[in-house]
Amino acid sequence: MPSPPATQLPGTQSAPERARRAKVLLPLPLDGAYDYRIPAELPVGAGDFVLVPLGRRHEIGVIWDRPVSDDDDDARAVPESRLKDIEHRFDLPPLPEVARRFVDWVANYTLSPPGTVLRMAMSVSAAFEPPRAVVAYRLAEGVTPDAAPGTAPGGAKLTPQRRRVLEIAAAGSPLPASELAREAGVGTGVVRALIDAGLLAAVTLPGEPATEQPDGARPGPVLSEDQRIAADELQARIAARAYSATLLDGVTGSGKTEVYFEAIADALERGRQVLVLLPEIALTAAWLDRFHRRFGAAPAEWHSELSAKRRRQTWRAVAEGRAKVVVGARSALFLPYADLGLVVVDEEHDQAFKQEDGVIYHARDMAVVRAHLGGIPIVLSSATPSLESIVNAEQGRYRRLQLSARHGGALLPEIAAIDLRRHKPPRQRWLSPPLRQALEETLAGGEQAMLFLNRRGYAPLTLCRACGHRMQCPNCQAWLVEHRLVRRLQCHHCGHATPLPRTCPACGAADELAACGPGVERLNEEVAELFPEARVAVMASDTITGPRAAAEFVQAVAEHRIDIVIGTQIVAKGHHFPMLTLVGVVDGDLGLDGGDLRAAERSFQLLYQVAGRAGRAERPGRVLIQTAQPEHPVMRALIAGDRDGFFAAEAEARRRAAMPPFGRLAALIVSAGDGAQADATARALARTAPRSAEVQVLGPADAPLALLRGRHRRRLLLKTRRGVDVQGLLRAWLPQVPLAGDARVQVDIDPYSFL
Ligand code: ADP
Ligand code: ZN
Repeated sequence: MPSPPATQLPGTQSAPERARRAKVLLPLPLDGAYDYRIPAELPVGAGDFVLVPLGRRHEIGVIWDRPVSDDDDDARAVPESRLKDIEHRFDLPPLPEVARRFVDWVANYTLSPPGTVLRMAMSVSAAFEPPRAVVAYRLAEGVTPDAAPGTAPGGAKLTPQRRRVLEIAAAGSPLPASELAREAGVGTGVVRALIDAGLLAAVTLPGEPATEQPDGARPGPVLSEDQRIAADELQARIAARAYSATLLDGVTGSGKTEVYFEAIADALERGRQVLVLLPEIALTAAWLDRFHRRFGAAPAEWHSELSAKRRRQTWRAVAEGRAKVVVGARSALFLPYADLGLVVVDEEHDQAFKQEDGVIYHARDMAVVRAHLGGIPIVLSSATPSLESIVNAEQGRYRRLQLSARHGGALLPEIAAIDLRRHKPPRQRWLSPPLRQALEETLAGGEQAMLFLNRRGYAPLTLCRACGHRMQCPNCQAWLVEHRLVRRLQCHHCGHATPLPRTCPACGAADELAACGPGVERLNEEVAELFPEARVAVMASDTITGPRAAAEFVQAVAEHRIDIVIGTQIVAKGHHFPMLTLVGVVDGDLGLDGGDLRAAERSFQLLYQVAGRAGRAERPGRVLIQTAQPEHPVMRALIAGDRDGFFAAEAEARRRAAMPPFGRLAALIVSAGDGAQADATARALARTAPRSAEVQVLGPADAPLALLRGRHRRRLLLKTRRGVDVQGLLRAWLPQVPLAGDARVQVDIDPYSFL
């Protein structure tokens, strides 16, 4: 008797309830997510990565919300007949809810299309392809590495090398041939021969090679009492499994890094992921070494210099929760963490955290938002916290932990000013007699010195002695900077470069073009002349390119293979040089009078950080700052070592002016290929501007960089009280404004650059 046919019980396939369509956000500058149909055979859920048709292309996007059925109200917007099918679902963990809400939040805050923010979270399309299978080898059936010496099954001769390979294959999990060879210390030929002889058998491993993980259980150094209190406090925040923001405020060398390492150890022990943001990834080699020593394995790195393969692997490892610690630049914030449990922002005051193009955002501020959305702790660390963070701590929004002494009793360096009005350097020279003498003494004592000048190249300006013509960039309103090493004049804004001409382009006079002012290359010349015996090296972003070069440089200094370091702001950050006892600031006034909101704050932070390089070990350090304005509040605070007094005065000035962090700013930058069109658009903006007791619109005015990359630029500044919904105002205002010609309006919420 035939068995009865399987019957379909009514209701088991809840057809009317089944989700039929989904909103898919694409990593493109579109207004929002698009609707797609979910094919019956392809169930998808919120956060899934999917392939969809878009015009004639196919794009990878993310299911942005819970899919809906056609009877849902909000499904009616696009008629069924116009919907296209989702084509494919990628075999990846879905983008977590918190990551999607974060993208929405950042898009909303910065007034960017959400797709452009999503693009930062999806930066590698190759990551969506399944990882290629790896062929690995283990001992073949019945083979043991301890067959009698000289013999082996299959008649292969068992040399000591071959034997070592077999021992390694027997000891652990299967390894690719190259790994086996590496671990045995033999050539791959040896392994191949064993494979050919049938002594090793192939197995196919899916996915990515496993990497070693940082180990939170490894013991750290014995902490001082202050450090212990701070570390305990952070560990309590991690145990609380809730949002909290902590400002870790400690003088340079006080052990902030050791303290937040304890927090990382704790998060690791709880199996959660950790993100550490650093301002300049080219300089993190020393940090990576330290991390490796502390945790026994390297963290995953995320920055623009990774190879495509490494990006793909890292992105997947983060999404799958295999990468436990990620250290990176700004963009690491947008990675699809499976289970982020702690964020650390080191050198939180650093302006490098502000991204100035594309989606304009401040990574430190957005990191706080990310922590808030994720319900996790964030630690902001600095020896010179931003005024924003100080005020947040004072008003109780952040908890503040202070470390007031250098570790091991090292003293903070003595800071003194050299008044350039009294101690003039010789003509066309930049080192004053007192600074030269201090250099001499330092070298005589077998110690190291650092000269700080925040100017790349040889000279910031080239001028014709015959007619006064100044060499200017054709695309920007900026002087060309001479870089003598590469024999070029360069624009630091657009990258334009040209050989230094022999004759003046204006008057034709030959050999009259003269360098004006110093850059680090020129200072190098002066130092070489003064101290011909000394080993001198320049560190600037164009002479030290990439993490490897930076690591080598830092090591050369640490090992005292260099006597005098000459550097731009990249030497100011984080390094620990035990023999460095003198820091000379060549032009302390540079940046003091930038006229922008944060000129004083930034100058103070930078000079304080540079000063912090001196005397970090047993030998005391001293810092000499050349300045023509020793009475300037920044100089006075530095010399008196009165950091808190300086910030209090600065905060008071901002409060009175209702400037951030006590008021809010948004900048509008209008640009156009044609100056008249830029003006017309800027005037139209001003005419329609919202004005009230709480809202002021300043401008338009020519931007200080009135021409940039061939575009004419005008600026307006929206200034409001703290509680005002700036984004709402801008959303109502900007669409009313007609754009003349190719004019564009760029919005910069909480601007840091006023160029
Ligand atoms: P910061 O981050 O505040 O500048 P670091 O964490 O870099 O300070 O510490 C400065 C130096 O002192 C580093 O070389 C660090 O390894 C060392 N150090 C700090 N705390 C300790 C400690 N408790 N035990 C041993 N060495 C420490
Ligand atoms: Zn230029």
